[in-house]
Amino acid sequence: MRIVFLGAPGSGKGTQAQRLVADFGVVQISTGDLLRAAVASGSELGQRAKAAMDAGELVSDEIVLGMIHDRLQEPDTTAGFILDGFPRNLAQARALDDVLADISQPLDAVCLLDVDFDILMKRLTGRRTCSKTGKLLNIYFSPQSELDACVEAGGELIQRADDNEQTIGNRLQVYREQTEPLVSFYRDAGLLRNVAGDGSMDEVYARLKTALGV
Ligand code: AMP
Repeated sequence: MRIVFLGAPGSGKGTQAQRLVADFGVVQISTGDLLRAAVASGSELGQRAKAAMDAGELVSDEIVLGMIHDRLQEPDTTAGFILDGFPRNLAQARALDDVLADISQPLDAVCLLDVDFDILMKRLTGRRTCSKTGKLLNIYFSPQSELDACVEAGGELIQRADDNEQTIGNRLQVYREQTEPLVSFYRDAGLLRNVAGDGSMDEVYARLKTALGV
């Protein structure tokens, strides 16, 4: 299974990717996670990426492509991978084609998670991560018992620095202008699968598996 998850911020890419990882043993490669780790480590690359991330802009292609190139060469990717949050513009999509051709691992499918704007806003402003388990939660949508369980286990519900209303607005605009053209790019390549991203996590996951034929 070699797939790309396409969808606006908050469309559920990370959540659904975690489920495919658990059920199919593939690896999730999230450029957002890799960049946040670089920022947290204080590396030079992280320092260069931070300003763009805080503003909700895209980090430069040079940084992101270098990271993805290295990550895709690691041995665990031969079992399959989900690219979550990459590519985000046409230049990245074309560069990805080249890297995958080099390692003879072409994409099987590109899943577009389609979600209404109002739901995206609630998902993004409500999004939290449990500091103890890394589990993704939402103060509007997660069962209270799951939110309580994190805190009772000594965890904290952490909000991402870029999940504030101003940055969110910018990220959605960047998605529309730079990432949405990839929908027709991958449709023309015969790889696009549309998945309605509204409803519960279980409902979306069932649709996703149907779209992937697994
Ligand atoms: P995400 O976790 O995917 O929402 O990404 C968080 C932030 O990291 C984005 O708003 C961008 O600033 C940056 N980022 C993540 N992936 C990419 C990418 N493929 N290209 C450029 N910037 C990215």
